[in-house]
This record gives sequence, structure tokens and C-alpha cells, in this order.
Amino acid sequence: MSLAGIGYDCHRFVPGRKLILGGVEIPYERGLDGHSDADVLIHALIDALLGGAGLGDIGEHFPDTDERYRDADSLALLETVVTTVIAAGLEIVNVDCTVIMERPKLAPHKQAIREALARALGLAPARVNIKATTGEGMGFIGRGEGVAALATASLRSR
Ligand code: MG
Repeated sequence: MSLAGIGYDCHRFVPGRKLILGGVEIPYERGLDGHSDADVLIHALIDALLGGAGLGDIGEHFPDTDERYRDADSLALLETVVTTVIAAGLEIVNVDCTVIMERPKLAPHKQAIREALARALGLAPARVNIKATTGEGMGFIGRGEGVAALATASLRSR
């Protein structure tokens, strides 16, 4: 049986925080605000995995009211979700992600992100696709107020 899940997230840019996307620190003058490390890409990916597995959403698993998740490393949260998905008798087939961000350019970091996520997912990098686009100057993304991410995950029962 094959299963599919989707995920979406967005976070606001603020000064004085690191910009972490897909588990990789990206040099930039601002970072994303959030209870955890605000890794918007991993949060979308976690929701895609949980969605495909029929296991709810990230907020149910890691509540932002829980002090344990303050400044949490989202890559570690992703690893926990992968363990949960595998324990549910499922195998991850592939994931596909899109980051929507005006600046900075993601292109120089895509390969590092792909490798970091592949490691956490236990997949070959070829099964982890990372895409980037912009808001074409429109809306909150176009004004550089924040970053959004979309992800899909395909799963199958083992
Ligand atoms: Mg989030």
C-alpha cells in the first residue's frame, strides 16, 4: 500500500537568530522566529511524514507550549518522527520539498540540505528533492518578512 502526505509551514524573519533550513545553518543577517530553531523546511517535512502515516501534525507531537522544545533542534525532531513512522510499519519512499523565500538564495546550500535530510530520513540523497522559489516580490514572502515551505512524502507499508 502506498501513502502520501503533505506539509506546509511558515516562519517570520527576526534579527538576532540563526537561519537554519533543512538542518543547515545559512549565513544571513536575520533568522526565523519560533519556539524551536524555527527550521521551517523540516517542520513542513515532519507534517508531510505524519500526514502520510495518518499520525496527526507536528503541534500534536511537539507542542510549542512545551518548554522541552524551546530552541529544539528540528533535525532531532525529524529523527524522532522517522522512528515513529518506521515503528508504525511504514517505509519512507521519497520526499519532495519547496522553500519559498526572497532572500538569501538557497541554491548554494541545496546539496548540503539534501544530504542532511537524507541522513535523518535514512534515504539516498536521490530520494530527497529540495527546490527553491521566491514570492516574485509579492506578499509577505516577497517583502522579505518570512519564509514558507511545502513538502510531500511518499510512504509504503513494509
Ligand atoms: Mg514551524
